[in-house]
Amino acid sequence: MSRTFYVNGEFVPEADAKVSVLDRGFLFADAVYEVSTVLDGKLIDNRAHLARLSRSLGELAMATPASDDDIVAAQLKLLELNHVDEGLLYLQVSRGVADRDFGFPKNPVSSLVMFTQKKSVVESPMAERGMRIVAMPDQRWGRRDIKTVQLLAPSLAKQAAVDAGVDDAWMVEEGYVTEGTSNNAYIVTEDNVIQTRNLGTEILSGITRTAVLKFAKAAGYTVREAPFTIAEAQAAKEAFITSASAFVMPVVEVDGTTLGNGKPGPVAKELRRVYIETARERQNL
Ligand code: PMP
Repeated sequence: MSRTFYVNGEFVPEADAKVSVLDRGFLFADAVYEVSTVLDGKLIDNRAHLARLSRSLGELAMATPASDDDIVAAQLKLLELNHVDEGLLYLQVSRGVADRDFGFPKNPVSSLVMFTQKKSVVESPMAERGMRIVAMPDQRWGRRDIKTVQLLAPSLAKQAAVDAGVDDAWMVEEGYVTEGTSNNAYIVTEDNVIQTRNLGTEILSGITRTAVLKFAKAAGYTVREAPFTIAEAQAAKEAFITSASAFVMPVVEVDGTTLGNGKPGPVAKELRRVYIETARERQNL
């Protein structure tokens, strides 16, 4: 059965899910996006994703395509139409359609498209074995706090990692890890401190990052928000990443160095368990 897509207020089959070649998302990557995870048919932390969407739109002076409540209603209908119990809901807003011009159009009408992808998110072979990471230069633009669809640099880094036979890249700038290609990066130091880069324009403020740091503090861990180097990651007791779709995913190798005994560490395992448990207890948040 073909999937139903949402395109500017309409629920349509894939064959009809189209935007204009003049869409500024297509021509200029003038678009922002969010990915919410679906678990037990419910959206995890969705209101936080929509709040970040609002912020991204504001930073780019892009008009809001619909109210949060209208977006949520459309999201829930899309999940229902596609019978999604576990997977992802992708949402993208672009500045809309206009003749090609670097300056913004006069009266832009933002476009909103959404689609779902079924995917097993809880059961994960990678969560069992842990990820292998390589270091790559961070070649992205300077406003990584805005979730734009300019994803060519991280896509190239991810493909280079896959070509190198590992799972992902941690991007490095001026000697410090910024983040993964589509996730936030963490280490657990010898003194059991959970360390992840502080927020700023260098990284995306992950919705999962916010949730996981809260759980970590509640569980009694010390959290240090500061940049770390690849060498520090290689000397760490363990490491992990977070993202909406990966939850908490252990890292067992950093740029050729095996961490600990090469198996997922206890902190990552505990935080993954708590994150999934908490997500399951909540309703379409
Ligand atoms: N950093 C980058 C660059 C990302 O693309 C993502 C995934 N969207 C994240 C971090 C994690 O963010 P979240 O937890 O909101 O998925």
